[in-house]
Amino acid sequence: MKSIQNKSHHDVIISGAGPVGLLLACELALAKCSVLILEKAEDPHSPLKQVPFGIRGLSAPTIEALYRRGLLQELELHKRLKNPHQNAGQGSRRQVGHFAGIPFHEGDIDTSQWTHRLPSSTATSLLSEMQELETVLSRRAETLGVEIKRGMAVSDFHQVSDGITVQAADETFEGQWLVGCDGSRSVVRKAGGFEFAGTEPEFTGYTAKVDIADPSMLKPGRNATATGMYLQSQPGYLAIQDFDGGAYHSAEKPITREHVQEVLRRISNTDVIINALDIATTWTDRARQATTYRNGRILLAGDAAHIHAPLGGQGLNLGLGDAMNLGWKLAATIKSSAPEGLLDSYQTERHPIGAQVLDWSRAQVAIMRPDPYARALQAIVRDLMSTRDGATYFAGRVWGIHTHYDLGGGHALAGHSVPNFEFEDGTRIGALMHDGRGMLLDFGGNAALKSLANGFDDQIKYVSGYAKQQCSLSAALIRPDGIVAWACDNDPDGSEVEKAAARWWRAQSR
Ligand SMILES: Cc1cc2nc3c(=O)[nH]c(=O)nc-3n(C[C@H](O)[C@H](O)[C@H](O)COP(=O)(O)OP(=O)(O)OC[C@H]3O[C@@H](n4cnc5c(N)ncnc54)[C@H](O)[C@@H]3O)c2cc1C
Repeated sequence: MKSIQNKSHHDVIISGAGPVGLLLACELALAKCSVLILEKAEDPHSPLKQVPFGIRGLSAPTIEALYRRGLLQELELHKRLKNPHQNAGQGSRRQVGHFAGIPFHEGDIDTSQWTHRLPSSTATSLLSEMQELETVLSRRAETLGVEIKRGMAVSDFHQVSDGITVQAADETFEGQWLVGCDGSRSVVRKAGGFEFAGTEPEFTGYTAKVDIADPSMLKPGRNATATGMYLQSQPGYLAIQDFDGGAYHSAEKPITREHVQEVLRRISNTDVIINALDIATTWTDRARQATTYRNGRILLAGDAAHIHAPLGGQGLNLGLGDAMNLGWKLAATIKSSAPEGLLDSYQTERHPIGAQVLDWSRAQVAIMRPDPYARALQAIVRDLMSTRDGATYFAGRVWGIHTHYDLGGGHALAGHSVPNFEFEDGTRIGALMHDGRGMLLDFGGNAALKSLANGFDDQIKYVSGYAKQQCSLSAALIRPDGIVAWACDNDPDGSEVEKAAARWWRAQSR
């Protein structure tokens, strides 16, 4: 086999131009790293990435991340898409999300419990389309100088003392770091020797577009039956869960019209006839997570690092959260400005969040099982979800409002996404984060804080002013990913701020 040595040397090579690989590339390029993405597919377009199959629900941390990088307004599709949960219920009974198919309603949610979210915050959930999201991110990545090579499947790689060599489609590429963002069957994860631990599936899920002889034979909405679940979102567009232990998906058998008809008839207990199968794909609730996200110069992010059932739409959001967390830390490591252990905090912070999402999906599977025990649990959860505290809890989990890192330190905001403070001139803090730099926010106009921020040169920018609502804060350090690294309600103690800043950013003078 011929192997062409590609002499260009990149700071980071990313395997996979899915949404996670693209957002990570944008974050790295924003911090002036050179990035090459190798993508297996020749063509970025696919009917499975387009409406309706490509619809993805974005949660609060993702929406905030896109907003903070000035990308949110480029997503147009949600303005035209109708939220599927809004089909039933009006006003305060409007359905705004679900857990295992059990809806929660807008009027039951008490947003005043989310003390660090302000009226000026971005939406808590939004519908998007995979294709549009990837297009927006690819455009941004290329504008920032990222090189994307399509039709280049990464097949192998080797770590050498000061870098890595990566093989893709008979070519060899050199870089300092390799990040596997190559999805659930990640070659980087497998070849990199990462342990992928977790649980085996209980069902095969189907997403299919079919021509049904008589669509009215199927009930509208989500239908739990004695053997599984089916949902006809619009005539001919099906989602089915067949509790076969994931056997059909695992066997990687072709998805034929006859097979989909057989499964649908069995689950819906009807004689429904499928005339033609247009497109179909299968998935399962297999839930696995890499036990470590880093092996030397190889890192994992997105589905490459964790897989679980798509129930409740969390996987993309989880992966984009990985990218936001990893981007600035890896960039700082490459630029030699990272304090000891900064890159390792990617694993410390993101692994527990991934584990929570896997458990959230397992909990949904457990109460969706077609048996009397699960039905009994469903009734209890339904009751809880109709209470104010219950609905607020479920919405907080589904929309990612509760997502935070345990950063230690005494302040309630530390580890949380920074509230979207609005300054007197109408500027919002999220809009000041387009450049991806950390920020020292000073509501008290403290000269000592200003000079401290200057000591960190261009790593931390100093922002001072009065916000309309300040959540009793006097000062806060905000990381490039929008997470509060340190906060204070009283007169800030300069040495404390300096200590906190040094933990996340090493001063240039050192
Ligand atoms: C039916 C369904 C509905 C879903 N709904 C939601 C939702 O509402 N909300 C949500 O948050 N998540 C949802 N998800 C999950 C979400 O789609 C994934 O978690 C997300 O796409 C993961 O992004 P990624 O970039 O990590 O991986 P992918 O999107 O899988 O991208 C990986 C990329 O790597 C490429 N690649 C693969 N192998 C190689 C290789 N060897 N070399 C180079 N490139 C390679 C692939 O071609 C691909 O472009 C859903 C998933 C399914 C199946």
